[in-house]
Amino acid sequence: MKKRIIVQFSTMVIILALIITALIAYNLRQSGIKTSINTAKSISEVVKNGLTSHMINGNMDQRDTFINSISNMSNVKKLWFVRANSVTEQFGPGRDNEKLRDTIDQKVIKTGKMDYQLYENFSTNETIMRVTIPYLANSDGNVNCLTCHNVKYGETLGAVSIELDVNDLKQVGINSIYMILVITVASILTIIFITSNILKPYLKLFEKWGASIKEAVNGKFVQVEENNNLPKDMKDFTSNFNRLLDSYKATFTDIDKKLKYFIGQTTYKENQTPLDESKIIITNLSNLYQFKKEIEQDQTKEEIFSRLAQVLQKQFKQKDFTIYQTNLKEERREIVKQVGDLNFCCPSHMNNPSLCRSARTSNDVISVDFHNSCPCFTEENYYYYCTSVNINKNTTIVINFVVETKDELQYLKDNIAFIKSYINEAAPSIEVKILLKALKDSAFRDGLTGLYNRKFLDEYIKKSIPQLLRDNKKLAVLMLDMDHFKAVNDEYGHDIGDIVLKELAGILLENVRESDLVVRFGGEEFLVILNNIDSVQSAMAVANKIRIQVSQNEIDIYAGTKLRKTISIGVSVFPDDSRSFDSVCKNADIALYEAKNKGRDQVVLFNQEQVSSIDLF
Ligand code: GH3
Ligand code: MG
Ligand code: MG
Repeated sequence: MKKRIIVQFSTMVIILALIITALIAYNLRQSGIKTSINTAKSISEVVKNGLTSHMINGNMDQRDTFINSISNMSNVKKLWFVRANSVTEQFGPGRDNEKLRDTIDQKVIKTGKMDYQLYENFSTNETIMRVTIPYLANSDGNVNCLTCHNVKYGETLGAVSIELDVNDLKQVGINSIYMILVITVASILTIIFITSNILKPYLKLFEKWGASIKEAVNGKFVQVEENNNLPKDMKDFTSNFNRLLDSYKATFTDIDKKLKYFIGQTTYKENQTPLDESKIIITNLSNLYQFKKEIEQDQTKEEIFSRLAQVLQKQFKQKDFTIYQTNLKEERREIVKQVGDLNFCCPSHMNNPSLCRSARTSNDVISVDFHNSCPCFTEENYYYYCTSVNINKNTTIVINFVVETKDELQYLKDNIAFIKSYINEAAPSIEVKILLKALKDSAFRDGLTGLYNRKFLDEYIKKSIPQLLRDNKKLAVLMLDMDHFKAVNDEYGHDIGDIVLKELAGILLENVRESDLVVRFGGEEFLVILNNIDSVQSAMAVANKIRIQVSQNEIDIYAGTKLRKTISIGVSVFPDDSRSFDSVCKNADIALYEAKNKGRDQVVLFNQEQVSSIDLF
């Protein structure tokens, strides 16, 4: 940069010097020409006056002597005068050397105006200035030309031509130009020398500032060394510049530290300055804040996970991932969101989530870190990245990402801190939703057996019956009551009675399908709904299977003391027996009553005759 400035500066000064020299040379030439013309005019005046005197005195025949004497003047190379036609006509042609010699003579005689020509002969180094001055007839002064000449006032009588040697004059001009050039070049050199010495420290300082700014752009704040030889203004500027750098450094270090606190440690990418990095982090934090605001309005856990999945898809460009909710204590794991087709997670993890390394250790498990970290993932053409976040003491969210390339895996590694911050932000809301669901569930469940209660049955019926009728399907209602249960309480106490009820609940759950429903109807009465039965017989078969299993079940009540109990079951089918579900329940109860009457430990199918034979009292 320093060199460039000096070259530019020197070129400018040289151009300026050349312009000045050219102007001076032109002016010198013009003034030389003017001086020569004036000299020629003076000589011509002398010639005019001399010839006039010769005319008046009548000794014109001696004019050659006069002309020769003037021709001998220094610097006068040649001198001659010529006659105009009017003079020739009146007084004859004159001498041979008084005839028109060239075009300049002709032009001056014709126009009556002075003319000149500069002849430069470079081979002989001779410079001649030829000036031709007209001799005009006048009557103003002592001599009245019109008394002798038959011409009008102002008419050209003749012309005097003089050739002057102007070599000396030219030499003076050339010498002056040389002198000016020498002075100019010397001045330029002096100026360059002085300015480069004066500018040097400034240029150095500019270079240092430039380098420091370049480094600052890359996030390194390097101070500029202060130079005490520079003027106070420059020193002040440098120290203010350094103070600015210090302040930036402190601010950015602080911002960086605080941002990393939010999103964890990140690695800077190539060509990415800390400022770019901070911008990205702040944009992500703003998105994160927006996300948090959105999920606060969500009503269910499913909505939150859908939103999280959207963020993973749109913001983090993930195409295949599965979000698991894991409860290590209860050994349960459920898929809460699945995106894409690539899900290679082991099904055995569902009932035994502690097999999942990420859930168990709360660490990220990545396919390339350790060979076979996850024994389930055997796909060789894909990579996995499993990350987990603890929602509370028991619940952990595990996300299993599947990608096809190492670059995609690296992208995940680089962004996992951000991704985790989203799950962390969602964690409190997810926990609240899990707790609320548990609370809601408890309202629908019986505290002793864990079975659904009558409140749940009401909700369930409201939703399932219309669908059942639309689909033209049937269900069977089994009303169960333990035989002589009061005696258990009386004999062994309520606690044992509770154990017996829990045992019964377990047997009921074991003997029905997932799609069936077991409800504690009240006291030691239970209701089982067998959904979508194909025949009454199959419902009766299930009821008998339950009855037999209960009657064969031995309940440990004390050490060595075992208890066996029986149940009675009334069965009614919806909508065969009635199109009202409540009526079907009542019918099942009537059948149960019948079973009790018939001696207990049996299953009775409802029929209309039972209604009329009911003995209410
Ligand atoms: P039956 O064969 O006619 O049904 O005779 P039972 O003794 O079972 O007669 P009943 O159905 O009237 O007896 C119900 C008893 O169940 C009365 C009540 O003390 C008892 N019971 C109801 N709920 C509970 C409970 O939660 N725990 C215990 N231990 N006993 C209960
Ligand atoms: Mg009862
Ligand atoms: Mg009973």
